[in-house]
Amino acid sequence: MAERIILLPGDGIGPEVTEQARLVLVAAGKRAGLEFDFVEELIGGCSIDAHGTPLRDEVIEACRGSRAVLLGAVGGPKWDDMPVDVRPEKGLLSIRKALGLFANLRPAAVMPALVNASALRPEIVEGVDMLVVRELTGGIYFGEPRGREGKPPGPNGEKGTRRAVNAMAYAEHEIERITRVAFEQARLRRNHVTHVHKANVLDVSQLWMEVVDEVARDYADVELAHQLVDSCAMLLVQDPKRFDVIVTGNLFGDILSDEAAMITGSLGMLPSASLAEGGFGLFEPVHGSAPDIAGKDLANPLAAIQSAAMLLETSFGAKDAASAIREAVTFVLDAGHRSGDLLLPGETRETVGCRRMGELVLAALERD
Ligand code: NAD
Repeated sequence: MAERIILLPGDGIGPEVTEQARLVLVAAGKRAGLEFDFVEELIGGCSIDAHGTPLRDEVIEACRGSRAVLLGAVGGPKWDDMPVDVRPEKGLLSIRKALGLFANLRPAAVMPALVNASALRPEIVEGVDMLVVRELTGGIYFGEPRGREGKPPGPNGEKGTRRAVNAMAYAEHEIERITRVAFEQARLRRNHVTHVHKANVLDVSQLWMEVVDEVARDYADVELAHQLVDSCAMLLVQDPKRFDVIVTGNLFGDILSDEAAMITGSLGMLPSASLAEGGFGLFEPVHGSAPDIAGKDLANPLAAIQSAAMLLETSFGAKDAASAIREAVTFVLDAGHRSGDLLLPGETRETVGCRRMGELVLAALERD
């Protein structure tokens, strides 16, 4: 029976990279005896244009009836002036919440062929292979109370009274389930978890410390370290190799996973998975909709393609098919092919476009 996958290409380069990921998914899935039934839906700016909202309930229902979701990217200047609650990004926050996608997994590994693409020195980044596990449905992005009040400065020099508030709140069960995801992932990797916090000033972080320590008792084979978020930000650029799995809350994870991403050289290479309890997942590249290059066949589809690999592995247990995709990507890069975003400053080699990069990966997949 064909497995239903919901495609949410979204805005900007989203449709371009998602199409290449879909083609690779079909080819790699075949190797694992999987056949897919793709259903395309709208999210983000294109959904605002068509339906006046960034995410419709029907789309959430369609996702619930599927085995996995593959998303492109949302947003763009066209919708930048809209209020926060109806902007494209609201579609992303809403789908995470509606599907209970509490665990965001963001691997950041430096490929040997791209070791010079990082802003850091090659000897610092060579061999970096970490996974940031970010809590995605709690914390300050969702906490209550939230909002703004007061008046802006008046025309005759009156002082403004504006005030804004967002609250960081976490319940014990939210911390426990994300911590278990991190420890389970560490067991598949190098058995080390770093919990990132700000327990010297935040009550919320103190609760995280307690719960993480309690969960760690069930994982005697995994080493645990606690690290303050400010010093973690420094260590990530000073000695990134020391990290295996990082687990943290929504806000710190948002920032640190982008920092970790840049160590690898390009946003165009990085996949992600967002998982619910029971393992249901939404898979998407880390990058945004890149309006500056949208519609020009210039986007790097490798982040989306590697998100498809995570989908095969996580939603279908098709580890060999996922590895085949990663090996195909490595093969293409080792052969010297580059999209524009992977060029070093001053480098002048010929580049390949989005479609061609997808074709090269497909050809590499089918080479044996
Ligand atoms: P961005 O990731 O879209 O782009 C940052 C830079 O990286 C740009 O120069 C872009 O050309 C380049 N880039 C990104 N992905 C690339 C790829 N695959 N290949 C080649 N180059 C690539 O981030 P931004 O410019 O800050 O945001 C643009 C829009 O995307 C905004 O509306 C933002 O809100 C949205 N956004 C969406 C997501 C998402 O959908 N998950 C994430 C981040 C930003």
